[in-house]
Amino acid sequence: MPAFSRDRLSIKSISVLGLGHVGLATACCLASAGFTVHGFDVDKKKLEVIGSGRVPFREARVQSLLRNALRRTLDVGVELIPSDLYVVAVGTPSRRDGSIELGQVLKASKALGTHFTGLTGFRIVAIKSTVTPGTTDGLVWRTIEKESRKRVPEDIGLVANPEFLREGSAVEDTLHPDRVVIGEADRGSGDAVEKMYREFYEGVKTTYLRTSTINAELIKYASNAFLATKVSFINTIADLASRLPGADVNVVARGVGMDKRIGPDFLRAGLGYGGSCFPKDVKAMISVFRKLRVNARLLQAVEETNLERVAEAVRLAEKHLGSLKGKRVALLGLSFKPDTDDIREAVSGRLIDKLLREGSRVIAYDPLAVENARKVYHRKIRYAQSAREAVKGADCCFLVTEWDEFRRMSPLSFESMRRKVIIDGRLALDHSKFADVETFEAVGLGKP
Ligand code: NAD
Repeated sequence: MPAFSRDRLSIKSISVLGLGHVGLATACCLASAGFTVHGFDVDKKKLEVIGSGRVPFREARVQSLLRNALRRTLDVGVELIPSDLYVVAVGTPSRRDGSIELGQVLKASKALGTHFTGLTGFRIVAIKSTVTPGTTDGLVWRTIEKESRKRVPEDIGLVANPEFLREGSAVEDTLHPDRVVIGEADRGSGDAVEKMYREFYEGVKTTYLRTSTINAELIKYASNAFLATKVSFINTIADLASRLPGADVNVVARGVGMDKRIGPDFLRAGLGYGGSCFPKDVKAMISVFRKLRVNARLLQAVEETNLERVAEAVRLAEKHLGSLKGKRVALLGLSFKPDTDDIREAVSGRLIDKLLREGSRVIAYDPLAVENARKVYHRKIRYAQSAREAVKGADCCFLVTEWDEFRRMSPLSFESMRRKVIIDGRLALDHSKFADVETFEAVGLGKP
């Protein structure tokens, strides 16, 4: 029997559905705090890997927590087991039209509904996946009621509990969130989930926001849309700066970010945002605006500005090389950001596609993401074992991801290039060291 009943609201056992970046980090952290956690996924291979103590993607701190968690209160399997709380962290990928594909959420809701049929006692479902406003109260609610023949919220509690973690710092973010947003279909479930989080975050300074499910869902989208807007905003300033001799967008961003009302985060100019969240969430948001016939021009501009970053970087290379046709081009970095092997919607992909269209010969290096890139680009590009090997004999080099090992590079590191056209797409290099390299360019740096 689970420890939870409507009268004694205490969550002790938790099932996490979907052991991807979000679900696995959540499961490991909750288990490390002493909750009994069951990880459930439809991908048997992934479960085998996780069950043997290995993380199927690169996330160093999750890796270090996983073995410990498995030894303590975490187990994984293909069957759902009775729990007090069910956290849904399945994927919500983009459709072609930008709206999100809710197939995984639907299947997980069906599985939960069926699972609840044979159970007694009150259980709560928390939707952690990023879903468009109305999904928790709509598709999830209906499906669980239909499959379980029970009533939400009388028999089954429901909350929307969006996740704000960042890949690469998933554990740190899970353990120290700025806020915990609990959108509740019923007050009792909200109380129970807040109590569980307060226990989990004992001694950690964080803020709790209790609201409706629709507000919680909208908070997640609005947050990511705002951060993406900051990125595209500073990139617009970067394009202006790179045409103003002596201007440096880094300095401008620092000065702007010193204003407390603005803040310094997400004001780093460069090749724009990528990854599994921002592009998908901005597109999803635009599609919701359109569906409700609300003007989406601001977010459309954010997205278009982001997509144009690659053309701006190529423009800088062409200034020195003319057409890139037949040129050997080195890419430093493939992952969408440092400290991850994730290449979903990475800027590197858009750059590779453009370079291949132009007829360039591309060679790429990344400390972690080469294997993932190989699965997408196969033999269309070449892969180097090191930055040194990538740049050797190249006509042009784009710094695409600001890995630490690239930040440390000096003009000497590029000595073996055929033509020393270096495009710093992340303003990651110490450009004072490159002052004498005439063919050095950085996005947002107006050359005197
Ligand atoms: P992911 O694609 O890495 O993982 C999803 C997992 O769900 C996979 O392991 C898949 O096998 C599993 N799954 C699919 N259908 C299932 C089902 N019916 N039952 C059980 N498991 C199932 O996704 P992710 O990156 O962890 O993201 C999960 C959600 O969280 C998404 O909605 C995403 O937008 C959101 N989110 C992601 C991040 C991030 O940084 N990755 C941050 C915040 C929010």
